[in-house]
Amino acid sequence: MLLLTPGPVQTHPSVRAAMAEDIAPWDSAFRPFYTRLRDRIRAIAGGVEGVHVTLPLQVAGHMIMEAAIRTYVPAGGALLVPVNGQYAGRAVKLGRLAGRVVVELEVPDTRGVTAGEISAALAAHPECSHVAMIYSETGSGIVNDPAVIGPAVRAAGRRMIVDAVSAFGALPLDLSRQPEIDAVIFTSNKCLEGLPGFSFAVARIDTTEAASGNAGSWSLDLSDVLANTNTNGPGSLRFTGPVQSLRALDVALDRFDAEGGREPRLARYRANADILYRGLKALGLKPYVEEAEQGPIVVTFHQPAGFVLADFCEALKRHDVMISSYYTSTQPSFRIGAIGDVGAADMHKCIAAVGAALDELGLSQAA
Ligand SMILES: *Cc1c(COP(=O)(O)O)cnc(C)c1O
Repeated sequence: MLLLTPGPVQTHPSVRAAMAEDIAPWDSAFRPFYTRLRDRIRAIAGGVEGVHVTLPLQVAGHMIMEAAIRTYVPAGGALLVPVNGQYAGRAVKLGRLAGRVVVELEVPDTRGVTAGEISAALAAHPECSHVAMIYSETGSGIVNDPAVIGPAVRAAGRRMIVDAVSAFGALPLDLSRQPEIDAVIFTSNKCLEGLPGFSFAVARIDTTEAASGNAGSWSLDLSDVLANTNTNGPGSLRFTGPVQSLRALDVALDRFDAEGGREPRLARYRANADILYRGLKALGLKPYVEEAEQGPIVVTFHQPAGFVLADFCEALKRHDVMISSYYTSTQPSFRIGAIGDVGAADMHKCIAAVGAALDELGLSQAA
């Protein structure tokens, strides 16, 4: 089955094979392995040794986003969230239920937020100490660029949390040039092409230490993860985790290096997304976002008349392709991932499967 959900993503067999061993995180051999893995991840973020640190949590992406909000925004404090997609909406919910005040900056889910919009919103809301932003909005496929938003946040003297769950490892990020970012968060399983299991923050050491006591949670306190690192060493975990997935991630990072790193990976995803965008358009389907706003991670199309998403997904599965069985845009849509261990041939296979599925369901859009 070709997995284009996007998340979980298709992984390479050697990545999956790396999990097939029982290992103990408390073993002395594990500690140097884990320390090195954390350093490798910090380097991908452009983090600086002594300034930034990788803080792992054995949770899903939502939970490390909650951890970041709890850690950097004190209880009762306020944060600004540009909302142009469903993942931003989830950040709003995580923040509110954690007892933080969330100011929503509404933006259409068909384009990225601008620096001007961020500056204006921060000027109107001096209570917001932080901006929490979604880098790649997996809901509709558009991109908010932290390198564009960051200077506006910095100029306003505020701080930033970046949800890069569907961006990290592909879209550019250089923490060494963005001191306003307290933490960028992501998981092992999207653009890094590891298995699910762990999530990571690459965070500033100074602001994370200063945030001690904010979280109102032990499990979801990134400052406590850092305190444990300082006390027990970078090879130590606080709690038992799915450490086999760290082995898999290490193999996935070997593959990332062998591919040539972030830029070639982004180029592969961009090519995948372009093939899907044009191929599905040629089938008569209507893209959800303009080509100029279409990010390289997930491609979203309007549902044609008479379309039932569940039936479409089942029909695609009969052709060996799996896509997300729910949509996450304002208007009814379906989305196909361009990320994972997949390339042009897989995209063409997917387009053929979509064409066949539409035919079988009597929904062919051909003119
Ligand atoms: C996938 C995703 C998440 C959530 O990740 P989970 O591991 O499913 O909790 C959060 N934000 C974005 C932008 C994502 O793409």
